[in-house]
Order: sequence, then C-alpha cells, then structure tokens
Amino acid sequence: MNQSVLPWPWQRRSPIGAGTTLSCDVGCIGCIGRCSQLCFPPARCHPLWYIARLMHTLKYLTAYPEQLRTQVSGLIAQDRLGDTLRQRYPAPHGIRTDRALYDYVQDLKDEYLRQAAPVSKVAFDSKIQVVQHALGLHTAISRVQGGRLKAKHEIRIASLFRDAPLPFLRMIAVHELAHLKEKEHDKAFYKLCCWMEPAYHQLEFDVRLYLTWLDLAGARLWNAEPAPLSR
Ligand SMILES: [Zn+2]
Repeated sequence: MNQSVLPWPWQRRSPIGAGTTLSCDVGCIGCIGRCSQLCFPPARCHPLWYIARLMHTLKYLTAYPEQLRTQVSGLIAQDRLGDTLRQRYPAPHGIRTDRALYDYVQDLKDEYLRQAAPVSKVAFDSKIQVVQHALGLHTAISRVQGGRLKAKHEIRIASLFRDAPLPFLRMIAVHELAHLKEKEHDKAFYKLCCWMEPAYHQLEFDVRLYLTWLDLAGARLWNAEPAPLSR
C-alpha cells in the first residue's frame, strides 16, 4: 500500500474536502442494521451480511485500484486494520483548541502560501462529516470593503482530526489551504497539495483507511484527552 500504486489524483472520483461528497456507490442493503458493531470480527457474522458490510465499508476507497482494496479487505478480515494504522502513526498531535489549530494552519500558510489571501478563521467542526459528508470545508464569503469586493476565507476541519496523528491533520490543512489558490479538485490543485506535503496522496489514502476503521469499529484510534482521574 505505498504511494507508487495509487492512481493519479486527477483520475480519482471522490477527493476529500470542500464541496465534495464521500458517497457510497455500493447500495446499503441493511447490512449495518443487521450486523451490529459488536459482531466484528467476521467469524461471528453470517457470511453474506459480512460481505455486504465489507463492500459498504470500503465506500471510502472506491476510487482506488482493486488490488489495493483487496489488501485492505485482507487486513479487515484478519482484524489488523486498527493495529496497522496505529503502528504507522503511534501518537496523536495534541492540537486541541481552535486557537491552536488556527496557529498551526497559519504557520503552514506562512511557509507555503504567504502571498495567498488571508484566512480569517480556522476551527474544528463536529458537524462536518455527518452533515456535509466531507472532512474539511473552505468557505469564501465575499464582502464589499472600501468600495472593493473582498473574500473572507474560513476553514473548518472535521473534529475527528482533533484526535488524530499530526500527518492526518497536516493533510487536511494542506488540502483546505490549497483551495485558497485552486478552487477545483484538478491537476493544479493536487500539484499544489503535493508541493506543500510530498506524501499528500499516501496520507489521504491512510485517512480513508481510518474512516474505514471508524465505520467498522466506531471508536477513535487516537484519543488525546487525558484519562480521567480514578477515585
Ligand atoms: Zn477540496
């Protein structure tokens, strides 16, 4: 599962981010309802329900080659997906507040896109993934200021990235920052993403693996919240 076998980004159908939809192109046939979160690993499932559920779960990876999807299916079948991700990314980043997130994104912007329009707000948003089926949002609100039309840029990042490793946060931050200059998910857009983060495609793939894990297990792999004090 390395970057060299990933498809060229402009051939992909469902990129992450603003205005995009991570939609499921395999119809759900009720597998989730029948096959509860508790019946994973698959040995305890009816095989047909398991296959249906697996197809549903791989919805985040539909744009990737069959060979790669088969490898992911293998990891899921062996119940190794979570461990694989945690081995690759051992620790969460610890950026917990919107203020800290703003500073992180602003530092990235200062480093790579100093000339681009300013970003007025950056925040974690718990509603993004549920409501918009996206992981990040970039909004440009046009306002007349001093007789000129000025766009105010805001970036919202799905709150699942609050409890995630730094490379995942960097991927989505790079993605949303790239929209300051490139509106479409086209060749120029991904070129800009890769300039800011050379491992961009690998990271986007790994984020999709994590979404797959969340669908299966329902629990986050990284939790930066300190453990509550025992009484
Ligand atoms: Zn986008």
